[in-house]
Amino acid sequence: SHRSQDRGFFTSKHLPIYRHKAKLVQAVEGSTFLVVTGETGSGKTTQLPQYLHQAGMCRNGKIGITQPRRVAAITVAQRVAQEMQCTLGREVGYQVRFDDCTSQDTVVKYMTDGCLLREILADPVLSQYSVVILDEVHERSLNTDILLGLLKKMFSDPAKSTKGRSFPLKVVVMSATLETDKLSAFLGGCPVFAIPGRTFPVTCTFGTAVGPKDVESTGYVKEVVRMALDVHTSELAGDILVFLTGQSEIERACDLLFEKAESIDYRYDVQDQTVEGLLILPLYGSMPTDQQRQIFQPPPSRIRKCVVATNIAATSLTINGIKYIIDSGFVKQLNHNSRVGMDILEVVPISKSEAEQRAGRAGRTSAGKCFRIYTKEFWEKSMPEYTVPEIQRTSLTAVVLTLKCLGVHDVISHDLFTFKHLSLWCVGCRRGKVTQLGELMVEFPLQPGLTRAVLKGSSLGCQDLLLPLAAMLSVENIFIRPGNPEKQKEADKKHRALATKSGGMNDFATLLSVFQLCKSSDRPSAWCKDNWIHWRALKSAFSVETQLREILLRLQQRDFPVETFDGNKSELFRRCLCTGYFTNVARRSVGKVFCTMDGNGSMVNIHPSSSLFDQEADLNWVIFHDVLVTSRVYIRTVCPIRYEWVKDLLPKLHEVDVYELSSVARQ
Ligand code: ADP
Ligand code: MG
Repeated sequence: SHRSQDRGFFTSKHLPIYRHKAKLVQAVEGSTFLVVTGETGSGKTTQLPQYLHQAGMCRNGKIGITQPRRVAAITVAQRVAQEMQCTLGREVGYQVRFDDCTSQDTVVKYMTDGCLLREILADPVLSQYSVVILDEVHERSLNTDILLGLLKKMFSDPAKSTKGRSFPLKVVVMSATLETDKLSAFLGGCPVFAIPGRTFPVTCTFGTAVGPKDVESTGYVKEVVRMALDVHTSELAGDILVFLTGQSEIERACDLLFEKAESIDYRYDVQDQTVEGLLILPLYGSMPTDQQRQIFQPPPSRIRKCVVATNIAATSLTINGIKYIIDSGFVKQLNHNSRVGMDILEVVPISKSEAEQRAGRAGRTSAGKCFRIYTKEFWEKSMPEYTVPEIQRTSLTAVVLTLKCLGVHDVISHDLFTFKHLSLWCVGCRRGKVTQLGELMVEFPLQPGLTRAVLKGSSLGCQDLLLPLAAMLSVENIFIRPGNPEKQKEADKKHRALATKSGGMNDFATLLSVFQLCKSSDRPSAWCKDNWIHWRALKSAFSVETQLREILLRLQQRDFPVETFDGNKSELFRRCLCTGYFTNVARRSVGKVFCTMDGNGSMVNIHPSSSLFDQEADLNWVIFHDVLVTSRVYIRTVCPIRYEWVKDLLPKLHEVDVYELSSVARQ
């Protein structure tokens, strides 16, 4: 029937890619570079690696498939392991930052693009691989763009591309959109294999709630919830996919949906009498994987599924049975903010091409509908045509270091891209070679500032302070923020008590203290619950800390600097932080307003979540971990410092490359 087809159980033989199996394998074998394109859901990510495996292309080496998003890498690997009927981590495995699920047997390896970038650093010809597949290239993620450039470069120099390899490497580049001409041209006019897709019409309607004036408002959460319930009560059977911005917005929307869906009377309120309930499922990056699995399962009979997701559901993951899209029109994106002078996560309007991608998710197996909460005017005035590639949106500190370690010293002429913010970082890069310190830094899967602080701490023998801190800053949402005002008060009180316990007036120390208290507790999960702390986040922090410690131990086998310091522990801790965060220094100007010292002179406020909030009068110089931009600019995770600790570093901020600077500072 219509229903069973919608909910339908898909076998891989029904996927559009299946009929092209033999030709695809031939095309991969026949050329160094191959571009593969096809609609989202046609089977590129899950099937092509299996075809190549079946064709014996793993005889000499692994097949590696990169994904810009870690959830996608994990989920897809799970799926493929299931299809190949093997245990995940054996023939099929995945590797993402801080989570390696591969073994000696692994021949089909899904990973984040960041992971492959790290591997290429250690082994520039990727000698373990027979095929490398760069997936989701249309997303233009920073790491994928760089990999593309590096692989091209590798083959432009035949001596280099074959040195250390006993068999040729094949590179497949996969993209969901048809703009493949440029891609093929970039790769020397390589062949393009287009998988013919079948899609069904999707009717799009604009809303009235979000107009060009609402670019900075947060009303979109309530509006998507209202719209989802409207669809649920008035549209025929078929699942709903809601596009929202991030974890907290998604959790809020799900809470609201639960609340409102409870009061629906299915005898009277719901038009389609075959629908008798709503199953609400969140989908975002840091979700536990067992919860993710539920997303793909067909809902129980007569139940409508409503998935509330980030952009990950736009092209990386395909959920079957979706018939209705609710599009918030926004996305959370890492941008270089010129007002603040650094990279921050911002909620911004999506591009028109992104909006079309989102709508397309409703027409995969039958005709569908897309409800946009924004007006036609918003579409015309606030949404750009295309999404600007990440490499043009963000600063390039980490990338520059990575490239330099790869021997690409002339970063500016790296030919793929226009490096928009390069001037900020690279004044001293052109001649610069990577210092000894830089070589140590690049081994850490952390942002450069944090890495620098960890290394400084380790040189001074206080890695037990810096490693846990780094781990805590690498996981999301430690502190539970219940929406309910009563509960919020209770949580705030507990969190304040934790800050006081750690000595007060230092958010970094609070994080460290939470880590230590929980770790030494007999019943850590109960401790977390009692203190309104996310136990899952802390568990990840424990695991991340262990991994960072292993990396450090490895580095300490090398020529590792040793320093001494006499002073108290609190000063030692903060001075280590200053070494890494000297780019994030602010000084109080008037009242509660601080001014950043990075040359931009941005006016910032301390975020209410900080233990320094409302203590501004006592402060002068501070450093901070990150920035949140709403109608105001806030700094978060803050601690007071002394000017002497940073005074030698600040003036050099714009003269030379930061990495060189950090090492200069040490000498
Ligand atoms: P593409 O990469 O071309 O977008 P995929 O290979 O990701 O396509 O998906 C092919 C099909 O496999 C889709 O119908 C999708 O719904 C299904 N699929 C992918 N992952 C899972 C999963 N974890 N569980 C169930 N079905 C899945
Ligand atoms: Mg895919």
